[in-house]
Amino acid sequence: MLEIRDLTKAYGKYKAADGVSFAVGNGEIGILLGPNGAGKSTVIKSVAGLLRYKGIILIKGMDARSVEAKKVFAYVPELPSMYEALTVREHIDFIMHAYHLQVTEEWIQNLLGRFELLDKQDKLGNELSKGMMQKVSICCALMIQPDVILLDEPMVGLDPAAIKELKQVILELKEAGATVLISTHMLEMVKELWDIMFVMDKGRIIASYRKSEVKEEDLEDLFFHVTDGENGKGEA
Ligand code: ADP
Repeated sequence: MLEIRDLTKAYGKYKAADGVSFAVGNGEIGILLGPNGAGKSTVIKSVAGLLRYKGIILIKGMDARSVEAKKVFAYVPELPSMYEALTVREHIDFIMHAYHLQVTEEWIQNLLGRFELLDKQDKLGNELSKGMMQKVSICCALMIQPDVILLDEPMVGLDPAAIKELKQVILELKEAGATVLISTHMLEMVKELWDIMFVMDKGRIIASYRKSEVKEEDLEDLFFHVTDGENGKGEA
């Protein structure tokens, strides 16, 4: 469960997030959708603990800033960053030690295999393409088998095979009862994934929908309708 209550983040007088409240339950995939500049990254970075903010963010009922919350929380940033001097495998081992994980070698090999990284294990961070870095970043997040996972524009830069695999992994996390929040400006990429969708614009949640209440084919219209109404542009 991820709960955000009255999250506000101001840059000077401008409120990049302005009283944002929403929740994504266990076994649910939430989508944070909105045009560029809507405030999605601000919300994501606040949840990930990268920004100071006003308001309350709870991960499984625990303050997102607490160590206990961080143990069950994974974050895949929009732009992957890797330690230049560590190999792919060393990144995995680092996570394993930092989180005191008890995962088998077979499990790790299976995970790396799913993202076509088996033959890349000895490559250094700075020898990888952006797409490969992103796959490593995803694998590091999955290593901890998180209860709550946050993915910021996760499909951008991935090849079609990796997108397919990632979608499958996300559905498996949901099946396992995890809470997934995906931030994106691309409706197309998340069509078959979502349970609950929050549309953000100008720092506020301007609409939210449950999949059970909305017909798939109406989704795009709904999105443009609400964002059109707010900013007159409807850019996505
Ligand atoms: P999104 O991720 O939806 O594209 P952001 O959360 O990145 O939107 O940005 C929301 C708004 O906050 C934008 O108008 C952006 O210019 C502004 N903003 C973001 N980061 C900063 C910052 N560090 N300083 C000043 N303004 C910022």
